[in-house]
Amino acid sequence: MGISMTLTEDHADFRATLRAFAREKVAPGAAARDRDAIDAADIFRELAAMDALGITVPTEYGGLGLDTTTLVIAVEELGYADASVASIFAGHYLGMEGFRLFGDEEQKKKYLTAMARGELRAAFALTEPDAGSDIGSMRSTAVREEAGWRINGTKIFISSAKEAGVLLLFAKTDARAGFRGISAFIVPTDTPGLVFSAPMDKMGVRGEHAYEVSIEDVVVPLENLLGPEGAGGKLAMDVVNPSRIDAAALANAIAMRAMDLAAAHATNRVQFGKPIRDFQAIQLALGRMDTLIEAGRLVTYEAARLKDEGGDFRRAASIAKYVASENGFNVVDQALQIHGGSGYMRESEIERLYRDCRLIRLYEGTSDIQLITLAKGVTSRFDARGRLF
Ligand SMILES: Cc1cc2nc3c(=O)[nH]c(=O)nc-3n(C[C@H](O)[C@H](O)[C@H](O)COP(=O)(O)OP(=O)(O)OC[C@H]3O[C@@H](n4cnc5c(N)ncnc54)[C@H](O)[C@@H]3O)c2cc1C
Repeated sequence: MGISMTLTEDHADFRATLRAFAREKVAPGAAARDRDAIDAADIFRELAAMDALGITVPTEYGGLGLDTTTLVIAVEELGYADASVASIFAGHYLGMEGFRLFGDEEQKKKYLTAMARGELRAAFALTEPDAGSDIGSMRSTAVREEAGWRINGTKIFISSAKEAGVLLLFAKTDARAGFRGISAFIVPTDTPGLVFSAPMDKMGVRGEHAYEVSIEDVVVPLENLLGPEGAGGKLAMDVVNPSRIDAAALANAIAMRAMDLAAAHATNRVQFGKPIRDFQAIQLALGRMDTLIEAGRLVTYEAARLKDEGGDFRRAASIAKYVASENGFNVVDQALQIHGGSGYMRESEIERLYRDCRLIRLYEGTSDIQLITLAKGVTSRFDARGRLF
């Protein structure tokens, strides 16, 4: 893992701590959690005890007040050991970020503090059966009544929804207004009317459960509106944008693990009288993998740096998510190829990495959605006649 970037001594110390924890406590159970689709609640608790669940949360709300680069390091170290644990970890930040960005003082004290300490697990409930990339078409509704907000609808693919203590849930307060009709709500998962499906039978990242959630006349207090009414669409995007950096870090981590497994296999596997790593075709593959990973990590750390500088990091986050997830999957595919038939067997770790890595091209905005977002930035620099502004 020899990336040539300047990390501080604090970053290096944090990486060493997380690495020791991940290799000792997380990696050993990864295969079993994948096989039996077991949620890593015990590891979540251990991460809480290490103060790792509020890395970017200000200290006044129980967090560590550290930078995005530190968060990226954490995702990398956890993801190298088990993508499911890293995805649970990043999913908690996804749910929590809305509270950090849009919570009022009371909401922050009550929810953000508990989340940063790991006492309250957060989930992010945006996607619906008919509203994935196009969130403006969501059908869930929230109606203001005297007793509170009455919410109805259906969410799908919601990670850790049942394991979480609270959902950051999105619903339309103005059904005709599309994207601008969406509002965000704080919905504790024990609220009557929330019905969770059984965990969905996923291809990969099976140690993190995903649910369909029916919302049947759920009523939450009026103060459970997060941010202004009608600002939920923007809130969702403001939360998803930084989480693309975490998703990129996870793809990089899986790819790094895959390359290491491929290198070890290429060293041990003897064909035609010598280790296969002595064949140039294998060397070319390993060289390509190293290059693809380095490129993915560079854009990921650059997006984190831009975010921490306080500037507009959205373009960088989309590039990082796209490059890292596409490169990562390419790397895992080549690593599986180096394993030959043994890589295709369920018992092989590379088979799990292949399934895990595939997800990252889908969530937090698919690869095509990242490209479309980037293309808008490219064309917006030209007027209607094609002249550069
Ligand atoms: C395991 C898993 C966990 C998830 N966890 C969560 C979660 O915790 N919370 C949550 O809210 N959501 C979650 N999601 C949902 C995820 O974010 C969506 O699946 C994703 O946004 C894509 O939406 P969709 O599946 O409806 O696909 P669609 O939007 O239906 O897209 C299908 C295909 O069409 C393409 N497409 C769509 N629009 C365009 C366009 N304008 N131009 C070109 N191509 C287009 C897409 O790129 C894709 O290839 C999760 C999904 C998975 C698989």
